[in-house]
Amino acid sequence: MSPSTLAPIAFPDVTLPESARRLRAEVRAFVDEERARGTVLGRPDSWLAGWDPGFSRRLAERGWVGMALPTEYGGAGRGFLERYVVIEELLAAGAPVSAHWVSDRQAGPSVLQHGTEEQRRFFLPRIAAGQCFFSIGMSEKSSGSDLASVATRAEHTADGWRLTGTKMWTGGAHVNDYAIVLARTDDTEDRHAGLSQFIVDLRAPGVRVEPIHLMSGEHRFNACHLEGVDVPDGMLLGRRGDGWKQVTGELAFERSGPERYLSTFPLLVSLLRELERRPATAEQLTRIGILTARLHSIRRLSLGVAAALDAGAAPDAQAALVKDLGTRLEVALVDTVRGILPTPADPHATPGSHPELLAFALLHSPGYTLRGGTNEILRGIITRGLEQH
Ligand SMILES: Cc1cc2nc3c(=O)[nH]c(=O)nc-3n(C[C@H](O)[C@H](O)[C@H](O)COP(=O)(O)OP(=O)(O)OC[C@H]3O[C@@H](n4cnc5c(N)ncnc54)[C@H](O)[C@@H]3O)c2cc1C
Repeated sequence: MSPSTLAPIAFPDVTLPESARRLRAEVRAFVDEERARGTVLGRPDSWLAGWDPGFSRRLAERGWVGMALPTEYGGAGRGFLERYVVIEELLAAGAPVSAHWVSDRQAGPSVLQHGTEEQRRFFLPRIAAGQCFFSIGMSEKSSGSDLASVATRAEHTADGWRLTGTKMWTGGAHVNDYAIVLARTDDTEDRHAGLSQFIVDLRAPGVRVEPIHLMSGEHRFNACHLEGVDVPDGMLLGRRGDGWKQVTGELAFERSGPERYLSTFPLLVSLLRELERRPATAEQLTRIGILTARLHSIRRLSLGVAAALDAGAAPDAQAALVKDLGTRLEVALVDTVRGILPTPADPHATPGSHPELLAFALLHSPGYTLRGGTNEILRGIITRGLEQH
């Protein structure tokens, strides 16, 4: 392949409407109220680590969970740009959004797109009310990058399906209600065929959740053992054998949002607060300026992917590009902040203080470029996207 055979990947240019600007002010006021009650701590990685169902419910009361779901299913019927504004404000503030994150970002849209009418009527109003939380049951011990190799099996029984296998890195399986599990239903020559998705009740008999602790000691992830779990026929999500198509569709939503470049943004805010107390040098300001310019560019790309998804396109290469650029920026931001201010990271410092936030961001940083698909895998997708163009 020579460079001349490649063409640029396009990103639509997006201008936020006036309604989005008003909404931003409302979200900021809500965040201020929550900050005053002590729920918004300005922590990095709050979409993964900030589990607060009460916060999720109060957000839902404002219509800001499942806000792009149709009103007939309990959603707010708002546009994708409005949702974008809400989530970027929440992430930038380090608000505790992890309880409803997966339900809002991908379980809700998946059930809307692939679910039966019964599934939509059951799950979507609960998701939009902030009362039904989902985990992602894709990865396994030997199936991360190579997801099509999943070994979890679903055997058809008289009453439905029996699932056996172990999912790894299942975020929130110990506290959430359901997981969408990818399992092999049929042995086929084409390894991408024969996979299906199931909505699994995480309290069902046969589900055993074993903690995986992060370096910080936090319990966010699990090995989720499915030991002969009976799943009714009505909990098959989409069509039997369409699991691969459905999962790859979900990944574009999973990869392109503001959580792929804003996870460490609260640390930048903390740095700026620290610098208010001492004069910043020209070099410090330049480094902050470079970070901010990168953030601004990636945000524009991310908004472009959101617009393409909303228009029904499949911008897989664009989403992969946003995640690769965005997660590298998340890591670089932590390094830059450490370089600008030589305060040692201290996980035992006062919660919310700069040394504590720095330690938190550092201990989480190995995950930024891995979760949701590693950067090596993303670059393969980007290359294929360039070739196709
Ligand atoms: C913090 C965190 C949260 C997560 N949350 C969830 C979750 O909630 N649910 C869920 O299902 N999964 C989750 N995951 C799993 C995540 O999707 C996988 O870790 C990821 O896809 C990588 O898979 P792996 O860990 O098996 O690594 P491997 O696939 O074994 O990869 C190991 C290394 O080899 C490289 N590599 C592999 N194949 C290739 C290739 N073809 N070309 C070039 N390099 C390659 C990879 O880039 C990587 O550097 C999470 C992971 C992390 C770290």
